[in-house]
Amino acid sequence: MRRDSFVKFKALLKRSENIVIVTHWSPDGDAMGSSLALYNYLLKLKKKATVIVPNEYPEFLFWLPGNNKVLNFQTDAKKVAKVIDKADVIFTLDFNSFKRIEKLGDLVSASKAPKVLVDHHQQPDNYAEFVFHDVKACSTCELIYDFIIGLGDKKLIDKKIASCLYTGLMTDTGSFRFPSVTASTHKIIGDLMDKGAVPSEIHSAIYDTYSDDRMKLLGYALTEKMVVLPGKKLAYMSLSAGELKQFNYQKGDTEGLVNYPLSIKGIRFSALFNEADGKVKISFRSKGKYDVNKFARAHFNGGGHINAAGGRGDGDLNETINKFLELVNDPKFKV
Ligand code: 5GP
Ligand code: MN
Repeated sequence: MRRDSFVKFKALLKRSENIVIVTHWSPDGDAMGSSLALYNYLLKLKKKATVIVPNEYPEFLFWLPGNNKVLNFQTDAKKVAKVIDKADVIFTLDFNSFKRIEKLGDLVSASKAPKVLVDHHQQPDNYAEFVFHDVKACSTCELIYDFIIGLGDKKLIDKKIASCLYTGLMTDTGSFRFPSVTASTHKIIGDLMDKGAVPSEIHSAIYDTYSDDRMKLLGYALTEKMVVLPGKKLAYMSLSAGELKQFNYQKGDTEGLVNYPLSIKGIRFSALFNEADGKVKISFRSKGKYDVNKFARAHFNGGGHINAAGGRGDGDLNETINKFLELVNDPKFKV
């Protein structure tokens, strides 16, 4: 956001009492971290803020400060409609198209409240009065940090806000190892530690919470389900609803799984097909220049970043995998 926009935005914030924060379908660490960081910041400004999610999210995010006040549209639709109706301003965090919040998008787009888009994914839609968007940002949490600084409120960042922000910075960068990480990312981390965030505790709270079923599902997927096509520099895995059930699947259990094949020498593209919640959800990851956002947008009704994107299958699991194989077996397909 430009400086003059910050001035206008400050005026809007000043006259807004009820503030709604919405994040994307199947929220991840960055979605919840950025939303709850902003929520805790707005509380400090004495605003009435509410975080709304379109559906459930993994239990390993429940420790985030403010989590117990989050409204889930799937289980609390009436309350959500009331809160949106009263909103003076609506923040949309870590996504940039109403498609990403499914049916909740109808309520948000119908609301007359001005929208504020804060996001780092490719190709944003044009629905917001205020846009705080940077595809170079490693996470939406980085943008929320810049946003608080831009409003001149660094002094208001406390341990709660710092811990939420740290979470998104850590999870969206694969613990600070993706190319999106810059010196400024690490400077922000230093600042957040000064404000009270404790890296070892946050890392443990997010990553050391596997159930034995989840750990066995990981082993099963890698041992039994991973298909490596070295000539194509790619690998993929799939998990059917039945297989997930066999391992007592809980939301979040497959998070991070798609990254493992990229640790194989020479593999630069990884895909995971997952038959969860009655849909075929796909995750794509790449290393280097291959743009999985474009691939997901062109063929699987999805999108995301150059090196990390997601999408949906139109057909069942097998049809989706077959479509994928047809695409990657095309001689023109090169990673
Ligand atoms: P994941 O594979 O972890 O679900 O998602 C990878 C990245 O792509 C995340 O930044 C996520 O927000 C984005 N993403 C996942 N699924 C979709 C989708 O269906 N559409 C779009 N536009 N982005 C997605
Ligand atoms: Mn993100």
